[in-house]
Amino acid sequence: MKSNLPHFLALSFEEIEALGMKLGWKPYRIAQVLAWVYKRYVTDIDAMSDLSKADRLLLSESVTLAPLEIVSRQKSIDGTEKFLFALADGLQIETVLIRDERRRTLCISSQVGCTLDCTFCLTAQMGLKRNLRSDEILNQILTVQSLLSDDERIGNIVLMGMGEPIANLSALQKALVWMISQSGFDLASRRVTVSTAGMIPQIEKLLDGPVDVNLSISLNATTDAVRTLLMPKVNRLYPLKDLLAACRRFRLPPRRSITFEYVMLEGVNDSLEDADRLIVLTQGIRCKVNLIPFNYYPGAPYHCSPEAVILRFQNQLLQAKVRTTIRKSKGQDILAACGQLKGQFAK
Ligand code: SF4
Repeated sequence: MKSNLPHFLALSFEEIEALGMKLGWKPYRIAQVLAWVYKRYVTDIDAMSDLSKADRLLLSESVTLAPLEIVSRQKSIDGTEKFLFALADGLQIETVLIRDERRRTLCISSQVGCTLDCTFCLTAQMGLKRNLRSDEILNQILTVQSLLSDDERIGNIVLMGMGEPIANLSALQKALVWMISQSGFDLASRRVTVSTAGMIPQIEKLLDGPVDVNLSISLNATTDAVRTLLMPKVNRLYPLKDLLAACRRFRLPPRRSITFEYVMLEGVNDSLEDADRLIVLTQGIRCKVNLIPFNYYPGAPYHCSPEAVILRFQNQLLQAKVRTTIRKSKGQDILAACGQLKGQFAK
């Protein structure tokens, strides 16, 4: 049954305190509720067993704690799981749990669809339906964590699911506060990564905001001609020269660097000349380059560069002392890999 009550995850700390005062609660009662939600991941107010029945009733008359509705849950042969969630208005989003040895990373969505039109990305084909609210961003973490066993703890969050996170900046920042706060999910800020296509003014606002997070920028090309082919909207607004100049002046937290994501597309951006240009472009920026083998999806206009070409590209960068990694692809068999999220809209 749909509820018109606000979601608990939508409330700021001050709003939770105000709610506690309205209910006549002592501060420790608020701390108990916060711990149930953010440390023990309950999604049912009745499960808060150290609250009296009367207090649970009072709380459930003020807020809801409903998890996201699971439409489907698919598991890859490599352990990656893709969740398709239905929102209260019937729209759907996808969230991906990546298992890598003991590490659990959740790739979450920030918008239903995306306004940018990157030509290598399946989400782009949906267009933008709407922004997610902060509680819908956080509820992806709560819902997935509540389904996991006690020995599986989500320790890393990447905002690389559907949408351009910083196009939804106010909801993103509100959610980030609860991801990092000690009373919230209490994740180390270096374990939370915001990925952007490179919208300079919003990046500046994010970096000036209340929380430090890792910044990852989708670069994907070394010339404006190719970047405009791959990321037409964002590169017309913020061409490479402007973007990299901005990266040189961003005030990053100490010991942080920018990750430049670079999707490897056969014959498009994977030549040794591209590698040489990338070396020049990244000079003077505290950064690392992450090469992403392109995850093909049916009808995709590109193909992934052969492994030997990716290794040659990496080697060229490493020789010039540019820190360069190759991302392990996960969940390809269930279309859960990077750039493959589209959900049922694909049908
Ligand atoms: S790659 Fe990211 S920014 Fe580009 S269309 Fe896809 S979701 Fe949007």
